[in-house]
Formats: sequence, structure tokens, C-alpha cells
Amino acid sequence: WRPDDEDDPRRRGASGPVKVRVPAKVNLHLGVGPLRRDGYHELNTVYHAISIHDELTARRGDTLTLTMEGEGAGELALDDSNLVIRAAHALAGYAGVLPHARLHLRKQIPLAGGLAGGSADAAAALVACDTLWGTGLSRDELAGIAADLGSDVPFLIHGGTALGTGRGEAVSPVLARPTSWHWVVALADGGLSTPAAYAELDRLRAAGAAGEPLGSTDALFAALRQRDPRVLAAALGNDLQDAALAMRPSLAATLKAGEAAGALAGIVSGSGPTCVFLALDQADAARIAAELDTAGVCRDARVAHGPVPGARVV
Ligand code: ATP
Repeated sequence: WRPDDEDDPRRRGASGPVKVRVPAKVNLHLGVGPLRRDGYHELNTVYHAISIHDELTARRGDTLTLTMEGEGAGELALDDSNLVIRAAHALAGYAGVLPHARLHLRKQIPLAGGLAGGSADAAAALVACDTLWGTGLSRDELAGIAADLGSDVPFLIHGGTALGTGRGEAVSPVLARPTSWHWVVALADGGLSTPAAYAELDRLRAAGAAGEPLGSTDALFAALRQRDPRVLAAALGNDLQDAALAMRPSLAATLKAGEAAGALAGIVSGSGPTCVFLALDQADAARIAAELDTAGVCRDARVAHGPVPGARVV
């Protein structure tokens, strides 16, 4: 692509609909450091994109509108508070174009589930509008805009498995063997607020009631370089898990049921309440998901694999 190439679709923009798929994320390691002056915690986290997707379709329009179906439809405001609309405005402002598009969101990622669904939708909106408007930004430029929208948004532009530092917005890919890991994702009824989970962790730490902080990611990186899910299982960890369990004690039964069903490990995803379980292989994941469904310890148990790419035009 050359900047003077008038025929390049990224320069002209798209006339037809642009459809973007974006994955959910789990944190294989979520190390929460001290509270910073700006109100965020210093994070040391390893993000991992899994095959539960939202889909955003962008069409040409005379104004900016958003409609949606699926998870959270009817609960989620579709106005300027929605991360999709905020992302479209942010890109238009950066690129100096009018923020005109008709956007439609098909959501499979639960709301406030600890899977970064809102951040995923923001990443999808950046990629979709960039193509629709022909603004032709690089992934790194999009990730720069993404960082102002939310700590997890830059990762969801890139996908795969990546280290996140700062408040999570500084992302660098993790070099790992090309392996697929198999997960069972246990969705819960209702959500948990991310800020409330961090506040609960601060409270537990102040009271001396939180577990030891996770520390280094070395064991996890070593595990990702091998192909043995048992080794990866032993290296998973989440500093927010105690806080999520304090806020939603029933998650302890979900975690126990997954391990009783043969999962190699189970952790709360991000700030919860979704729990994720690592399985030996795809067949085992399907069997564990069926057992969790039967045990009635979650709203829905889905199988997923990772890593998968970030927000992409399909
Ligand atoms: P994280 O794992 O990043 O903490 P989460 O999965 O717990 O996030 P999200 O679904 O990303 O939670 O959303 C958190 C809140 O963001 C929602 O409760 C909602 O108020 C707001 N929000 C704004 N736009 C969206 C969107 N498009 N999808 C989901 N939530 C959105």
C-alpha cells in the first residue's frame, strides 16, 4: 500500500457493509500491584484471546447509530455511553472525518463478565470504522486510540497471547509455541463490577485477608513455551479471585465442580463472575462443559480455544 494509491480500499473506504469479529479475553496471569496516583492499579498480566466472539457490522449512514442483539440486548444503553459509540467518535476525531455510520452489534460475550466484552466491542468499532471510512490506520495507531478508551482495548486489537503492563494498556506479544489450549467458560447470572472488585481487593489487602500476590510471570511464560496443559494449569493465577469470591461466594462451588469434572485448573476470569477451566483437549472440554451444565453451577458452560486473533474484518 502506498499513501498515494487512490485505488486502495483502505484509502477510499468501503461502500458495502464491513463486518468485524472480535474475541473475548481471559487473563492467564492477573497480577495486581499497588494503587497508582491516577486511581488505577499497576498490573502485570498475561492476556489470552479465546474463541467467544462479538460481531460488529458497520454500514454507511448520515449519522452515527447503534443497534444490538444477543447478550445484554435491552440492558445496555446504545447512546454516547456505549463503548462502540465512544470508539467511533475517538477514531473520527483522530482521523479528522465525520463519525457517520450505522453500526450493528451481535453480542455473545456476557456483560460485566470479566471477559472484557465492552473493550472487545470498542476494538471492533475502531477496526470496522477504520475500514468503512478508509482512514487506513496501522494496528499500532489504532491501539494508541484504544488505550484512551480502556485498559483492555489495545490487547483486543492485537489478540493472541500478550503481556500487559502499566494499567494493562501497554501490550507486547508473548512468543509461544503454536499450540491451541482448550477452555471451558462457565457464564454466571448477572455481572460483577470491575471497579468494585478492585476496591474489594484493596479492602482485603488492608485487612490482611488477601492471599499472597502472584509475583512474576516467569512460570507462566515457561509453561507457554511447552505444549503440556498440565504445566500451564499449574501456572495460572488471578490476584482478583479472592475479591470476586468475596463478592460472589457461589463461585467457589462453580470452581469446585469444574475441578471435580476433571478440569486441570479453574480460575475466575478477570474480575469475574465468569470462571474458566483448562481442559486436557477438545473432547475433555466438551465433557466438562456438559457436566457443569448438568451440575447447575452456572448459567451456561461453553467450550472455547485460544489463542485467536484480535479484532479482524471477516
Ligand atoms: P473487564 O473484563 O474489562 O473488566 P467486563 O467483561 O467485566 O470487563 P464489560 O462487559 O466489558 O465488563 O463491561 C463493563 C461495563 O461497561 C458494562 O457494565 C457497561 O456499563 C459498560 N459498557 C459500555 N459499552 C459496552 C459494550 N458495548 N458492551 C459491554 N459493556 C459496555
